[in-house]
Amino acid sequence: MDLKKFVTIVPDYPKPGILFKDITPLMNDGEAYKYATDQIVQYARQKEIDLVVGPEARGFIIGCPVAYSHGVGFAPVRKEGKLPREVIRQEYGLEYGKDVLTIHKDAIRPGQRVLITDDLLATGGTIEATIKLVEGLGGIVAGIAFIIELTYLDGRDKLDGYDVLTLMKY
Ligand code: 5GP
Repeated sequence: MDLKKFVTIVPDYPKPGILFKDITPLMNDGEAYKYATDQIVQYARQKEIDLVVGPEARGFIIGCPVAYSHGVGFAPVRKEGKLPREVIRQEYGLEYGKDVLTIHKDAIRPGQRVLITDDLLATGGTIEATIKLVEGLGGIVAGIAFIIELTYLDGRDKLDGYDVLTLMKY
């Protein structure tokens, strides 16, 4: 299936000069969403995943159906202040300033094989912070899956040594 048909490129969103890749048409189409999910489920099987972890909010859209289909749990990574119990935190750089991602301290058992999911790999900052959270709790990052990779932003450089699946490249 040609998944690119289901990605709408929105010029100048959220800022002038950015070509935003909107994946909501892909999720909106039952066949395309199932096809994309099934590719990642197959990958999760190969990597013998015990748990899926994804950053808010689009990491949930990709990761939750994969976790359900593969029959494992899902742990959310969220912005600071959004998780109700004890967390570990990781700062990461944005274009201007920085942000913080958190995960519940008891979300991962040491040695669990984790699949990290998100919709899109851009500079890799979000996923790099998510990897640090997973490894900080003793999880093994067995794979990382994205719907889209923006190859011109070189996010892969931050993921050296990790196994990465992307369904589409721009
Ligand atoms: P990074 O941290 O790799 O620079 O940025 C990736 C994060 O920003 C992902 O969580 C992703 O959801 C969001 N993002 C950045 N650019 C786009 C885009 O063009 N389309 C979508 N759907 N998400 C984007």
